[in-house]
Amino acid sequence: MPHDDFPAGSVWLVGAGPGDPDLLTRKALRLIGAADIVFYDALVGRGILDLIPTTTERVSVGKRSGRHSRDQATIDALIVAAAATGRRVVRLKGGDPAVFGRTAEEVAACHATGIPVRICPGITAASAAVAAAGTSLTLRGVARRLTLVTAHAQAGAPLDLDWQALADPDATLGIYMGRTAAATVMQQLLAAGRDPDTPVLVVVNASLPDERIIRGRLSSLAFLVETVGASDPAILIVGAAVGSAAIATPVRLLQVARP
Ligand code: SAH
Repeated sequence: MPHDDFPAGSVWLVGAGPGDPDLLTRKALRLIGAADIVFYDALVGRGILDLIPTTTERVSVGKRSGRHSRDQATIDALIVAAAATGRRVVRLKGGDPAVFGRTAEEVAACHATGIPVRICPGITAASAAVAAAGTSLTLRGVARRLTLVTAHAQAGAPLDLDWQALADPDATLGIYMGRTAAATVMQQLLAAGRDPDTPVLVVVNASLPDERIIRGRLSSLAFLVETVGASDPAILIVGAAVGSAAIATPVRLLQVARP
Protein backbone atom coordinates (compact mmCIF):
# COMPACT_ATOMS: atom_id res chain seq x y z
CA MET A 1 0.00 0.00 0.00
CA PRO A 2 1.44 3.41 -0.89
CA HIS A 3 2.22 5.71 2.01
CA ASP A 4 0.54 9.08 2.18
CA ASP A 5 2.72 10.60 4.88
CA PHE A 6 4.93 12.66 2.58
CA PRO A 7 2.76 15.11 0.64
CA ALA A 8 4.28 17.63 -1.76
CA GLY A 9 5.41 20.75 0.06
CA SER A 10 6.22 19.01 3.34
CA VAL A 11 9.39 18.36 5.33
CA TRP A 12 10.71 15.29 7.12
CA LEU A 13 13.60 15.63 9.56
CA VAL A 14 15.24 12.24 9.23
CA GLY A 15 17.79 10.57 11.52
CA ALA A 16 20.54 8.93 9.48
CA GLY A 17 21.97 7.01 12.44
CA PRO A 18 25.68 6.84 13.30
CA GLY A 19 26.99 6.08 9.82
CA ASP A 20 26.56 2.41 8.96
CA PRO A 21 23.86 2.33 6.24
CA ASP A 22 22.51 -0.87 7.80
CA LEU A 23 21.59 1.17 10.88
CA LEU A 24 19.24 3.38 8.91
CA THR A 25 15.57 2.68 9.61
CA ARG A 26 13.38 1.34 6.82
CA LYS A 27 11.27 4.45 7.19
CA ALA A 28 14.29 6.72 6.70
CA LEU A 29 15.20 4.78 3.57
CA ARG A 30 11.66 5.11 2.22
CA LEU A 31 11.57 8.86 2.88
CA ILE A 32 14.97 9.38 1.25
CA GLY A 33 13.67 7.48 -1.77
CA ALA A 34 10.52 9.63 -1.97
CA ALA A 35 12.18 13.03 -1.51
CA ASP A 36 12.63 15.61 -4.26
CA ILE A 37 15.51 17.24 -2.39
CA VAL A 38 17.75 16.15 0.49
CA PHE A 39 19.64 18.60 2.72
CA TYR A 40 22.35 16.78 4.67
CA ASP A 41 24.92 17.44 7.38
CA ALA A 42 28.68 16.86 7.27
CA LEU A 43 28.27 13.89 9.62
CA VAL A 44 26.11 12.01 7.15
CA GLY A 45 28.64 9.75 5.47
CA ARG A 46 29.14 8.39 1.99
CA GLY A 47 27.41 5.05 2.65
CA ILE A 48 24.17 6.85 3.48
CA LEU A 49 24.46 9.44 0.70
CA ASP A 50 24.82 6.58 -1.78
CA LEU A 51 21.24 5.58 -0.92
CA ILE A 52 19.85 8.87 -2.26
CA PRO A 53 18.54 8.27 -5.79
CA THR A 54 20.89 9.89 -8.31
CA THR A 55 18.02 11.91 -9.76
CA THR A 56 17.26 13.54 -6.38
CA GLU A 57 18.79 16.93 -5.70
CA ARG A 58 21.15 16.89 -2.73
CA VAL A 59 22.47 19.88 -0.85
CA SER A 60 25.25 19.81 1.73
CA VAL A 61 24.56 22.13 4.63
CA GLY A 62 27.59 20.69 6.39
CA LYS A 63 28.10 21.93 9.87
CA ARG A 64 31.06 20.75 11.83
CA SER A 65 32.41 22.15 15.03
CA GLY A 66 34.66 25.11 14.31
CA ARG A 67 33.68 25.17 10.63
CA HIS A 68 30.10 26.30 10.36
CA SER A 69 29.65 26.57 6.62
CA ARG A 70 26.04 27.70 6.91
CA ASP A 71 24.41 29.14 9.96
CA GLN A 72 21.23 27.67 11.37
CA ALA A 73 18.98 30.50 10.16
CA THR A 74 20.21 29.96 6.60
CA ILE A 75 19.49 26.23 6.83
CA ASP A 76 16.00 26.90 8.21
CA ALA A 77 15.34 29.30 5.35
CA LEU A 78 16.58 26.85 2.70
CA ILE A 79 14.35 24.05 3.94
CA VAL A 80 11.29 26.26 4.15
CA ALA A 81 11.93 27.77 0.72
CA ALA A 82 12.28 24.33 -0.89
CA ALA A 83 9.03 23.07 0.65
CA ALA A 84 7.24 26.29 -0.26
CA THR A 85 7.84 25.52 -3.95
CA GLY A 86 5.92 22.25 -3.50
CA ARG A 87 8.85 19.90 -3.12
CA ARG A 88 9.12 16.96 -0.74
CA VAL A 89 12.04 17.85 1.52
CA VAL A 90 14.19 15.49 3.56
CA ARG A 91 16.49 17.08 6.08
CA LEU A 92 18.97 14.30 6.85
CA LYS A 93 20.83 14.52 10.15
CA GLY A 94 23.47 12.34 11.78
CA GLY A 95 22.24 10.06 14.57
CA ASP A 96 18.87 11.00 16.02
CA PRO A 97 17.48 14.42 15.04
CA ALA A 98 16.31 14.90 18.64
CA VAL A 99 19.81 14.69 20.16
CA PHE A 100 21.88 17.85 19.67
CA GLY A 101 20.36 18.14 16.22
CA ARG A 102 18.90 21.68 16.13
CA THR A 103 15.56 20.04 15.47
CA ALA A 104 13.55 22.52 17.51
CA GLU A 105 14.72 25.42 15.34
CA GLU A 106 13.86 23.66 12.09
CA VAL A 107 10.46 22.54 13.33
CA ALA A 108 9.73 26.09 14.53
CA ALA A 109 10.76 27.55 11.17
CA CYS A 110 8.35 25.17 9.40
CA HIS A 111 5.51 25.91 11.82
CA ALA A 112 6.05 29.66 11.43
CA THR A 113 5.53 29.36 7.68
CA GLY A 114 2.76 26.76 7.75
CA ILE A 115 4.94 23.99 6.26
CA PRO A 116 3.97 20.49 7.51
CA VAL A 117 6.95 18.87 9.25
CA ARG A 118 7.50 15.46 10.83
CA ILE A 119 10.41 13.64 12.44
CA CYS A 120 11.84 10.18 11.78
CA PRO A 121 14.11 9.09 14.66
CA GLY A 122 17.54 7.56 14.22
CA ILE A 123 20.06 5.67 16.28
CA THR A 124 22.05 8.12 18.35
CA ALA A 125 25.84 7.99 18.71
CA ALA A 126 25.73 6.94 22.38
CA SER A 127 23.72 3.81 21.50
CA ALA A 128 26.02 2.95 18.61
CA ALA A 129 29.12 3.51 20.76
CA VAL A 130 28.18 1.10 23.54
CA ALA A 131 26.94 -1.45 21.02
CA ALA A 132 30.33 -1.32 19.31
CA ALA A 133 32.07 -1.85 22.64
CA GLY A 134 29.75 -4.72 23.55
CA THR A 135 28.44 -2.98 26.64
CA SER A 136 25.46 -1.00 27.89
CA LEU A 137 24.53 2.56 28.80
CA THR A 138 22.64 1.50 31.92
CA LEU A 139 23.34 -1.28 34.39
CA ARG A 140 20.70 -2.66 36.73
CA GLY A 141 21.24 -1.40 40.26
CA VAL A 142 24.44 0.47 39.32
CA ALA A 143 23.79 2.98 36.57
CA ARG A 144 20.18 4.05 36.77
CA ARG A 145 20.46 7.38 35.08
CA LEU A 146 21.66 8.37 31.65
CA THR A 147 22.69 11.93 30.99
CA LEU A 148 23.51 13.15 27.51
CA VAL A 149 25.50 16.36 27.44
CA THR A 150 27.26 18.38 24.82
CA ALA A 151 30.71 19.63 25.72
CA HIS A 152 30.71 22.09 22.86
CA ALA A 153 30.91 25.67 24.15
CA GLN A 154 30.63 28.96 22.27
CA ALA A 155 34.08 30.10 21.15
CA GLY A 156 35.96 31.52 24.13
CA ALA A 157 33.18 30.71 26.62
CA PRO A 158 33.73 28.32 29.53
CA LEU A 159 31.81 25.04 29.59
CA ASP A 160 28.69 25.83 31.54
CA LEU A 161 27.66 22.44 32.95
CA ASP A 162 26.39 21.39 36.37
CA TRP A 163 29.48 19.36 37.31
CA GLN A 164 28.14 18.44 40.72
CA ALA A 165 25.11 16.75 39.15
CA LEU A 166 27.27 15.09 36.48
CA ALA A 167 29.56 13.64 39.15
CA ASP A 168 26.72 11.43 40.45
CA PRO A 169 28.22 7.91 40.57
CA ASP A 170 24.84 6.35 39.59
CA ALA A 171 24.79 8.13 36.25
CA THR A 172 26.27 7.26 32.90
CA LEU A 173 27.37 10.32 30.95
CA GLY A 174 27.29 10.39 27.19
CA ILE A 175 29.36 13.37 26.13
CA TYR A 176 28.81 14.57 22.55
CA MET A 177 31.28 16.89 20.82
CA GLY A 178 33.62 16.27 23.72
CA ARG A 179 37.06 15.74 22.18
CA THR A 180 38.33 19.31 22.58
CA ALA A 181 36.92 19.67 26.08
CA ALA A 182 38.02 16.23 27.32
CA ALA A 183 40.67 17.62 29.68
CA THR A 184 38.19 20.09 31.18
CA VAL A 185 35.54 17.38 31.54
CA MET A 186 38.07 15.18 33.35
CA GLN A 187 39.27 17.93 35.69
CA GLN A 188 35.79 19.21 36.53
CA LEU A 189 34.33 15.75 37.18
CA LEU A 190 37.28 14.86 39.43
CA ALA A 191 37.01 18.21 41.23
CA ALA A 192 33.30 17.52 41.79
CA GLY A 193 34.19 14.19 43.41
CA ARG A 194 33.70 11.61 40.70
CA ASP A 195 35.89 8.55 41.28
CA PRO A 196 39.12 8.73 39.18
CA ASP A 197 38.74 4.98 38.52
CA THR A 198 35.35 5.42 36.84
CA PRO A 199 35.48 3.53 33.52
CA VAL A 200 35.41 5.60 30.35
CA LEU A 201 34.91 4.69 26.75
CA VAL A 202 35.84 6.83 23.77
CA VAL A 203 34.37 5.63 20.51
CA VAL A 204 35.53 7.24 17.29
CA ASN A 205 33.54 6.77 14.06
CA ALA A 206 31.11 4.41 15.77
CA SER A 207 29.58 1.89 13.32
CA LEU A 208 31.84 2.97 10.43
CA PRO A 209 34.66 0.90 8.89
CA ASP A 210 37.28 3.04 10.64
CA GLU A 211 35.61 2.69 14.05
CA ARG A 212 37.96 2.86 17.02
CA ILE A 213 37.18 1.90 20.62
CA ILE A 214 39.40 3.33 23.36
CA ARG A 215 38.90 2.22 26.93
CA GLY A 216 40.32 3.69 30.11
CA ARG A 217 39.60 5.43 33.40
CA LEU A 218 38.36 8.92 34.13
CA SER A 219 41.80 9.93 35.45
CA SER A 220 43.26 9.37 31.97
CA LEU A 221 40.46 10.81 29.83
CA ALA A 222 42.52 13.76 28.59
CA PHE A 223 45.22 11.38 27.42
CA LEU A 224 42.78 8.92 25.83
CA VAL A 225 41.54 11.45 23.28
CA GLU A 226 45.02 12.53 22.17
CA THR A 227 45.02 10.31 19.10
CA VAL A 228 41.52 11.31 17.98
CA GLY A 229 41.60 13.43 14.83
CA ALA A 230 39.81 16.77 14.86
CA SER A 231 37.48 15.81 12.02
CA ASP A 232 36.55 12.35 13.30
CA PRO A 233 33.31 12.18 15.30
CA ALA A 234 33.99 10.86 18.77
CA ILE A 235 31.77 10.30 21.76
CA LEU A 236 32.93 9.96 25.36
CA ILE A 237 30.99 7.72 27.73
CA VAL A 238 31.74 7.88 31.45
CA GLY A 239 30.32 5.53 34.06
CA ALA A 240 30.42 2.19 35.80
CA ALA A 241 28.12 0.63 33.18
CA VAL A 242 30.71 0.86 30.40
CA GLY A 243 33.27 -0.93 32.55
CA SER A 244 31.02 -3.91 33.08
CA ALA A 245 32.21 -7.16 31.59
CA ALA A 246 31.42 -7.02 27.91
CA ILE A 247 27.80 -8.07 27.64
CA ALA A 248 28.32 -9.15 24.05
CA THR A 249 31.79 -9.85 22.78
CA PRO A 250 32.73 -7.51 19.94
CA VAL A 251 33.47 -9.43 16.76
CA ARG A 252 37.02 -8.15 16.56
CA LEU A 253 37.86 -9.79 19.90
CA LEU A 254 36.62 -13.11 18.58
CA GLN A 255 39.02 -12.75 15.69
CA VAL A 256 42.14 -12.56 17.88
CA ALA A 257 44.20 -15.73 17.38
CA ARG A 258 44.34 -17.88 20.46
CA PRO A 259 47.59 -19.50 21.65
N1 SAH B 1 22.28 13.91 16.41
C1 SAH B 1 23.57 13.23 16.59
C2 SAH B 1 24.55 14.06 17.37
C3 SAH B 1 24.97 15.35 16.67
S1 SAH B 1 26.23 16.20 17.53
C4 SAH B 1 23.31 11.87 17.28
O1 SAH B 1 22.19 11.61 17.73
O2 SAH B 1 24.23 11.05 17.33
C5 SAH B 1 27.68 15.55 16.76
C6 SAH B 1 28.44 14.67 17.73
O3 SAH B 1 27.83 13.40 17.80
C7 SAH B 1 29.88 14.37 17.34
O4 SAH B 1 30.74 15.43 17.70
C8 SAH B 1 30.14 13.14 18.17
O5 SAH B 1 30.34 13.46 19.53
C9 SAH B 1 28.80 12.41 18.07
N2 SAH B 1 28.78 11.44 16.96
C10 SAH B 1 27.97 11.43 15.89
N3 SAH B 1 28.20 10.37 15.10
C11 SAH B 1 29.18 9.66 15.71
C12 SAH B 1 29.86 8.43 15.40
N4 SAH B 1 29.58 7.73 14.30
N5 SAH B 1 30.82 8.01 16.26
C13 SAH B 1 31.10 8.70 17.37
N6 SAH B 1 30.50 9.85 17.71
C14 SAH B 1 29.54 10.33 16.90
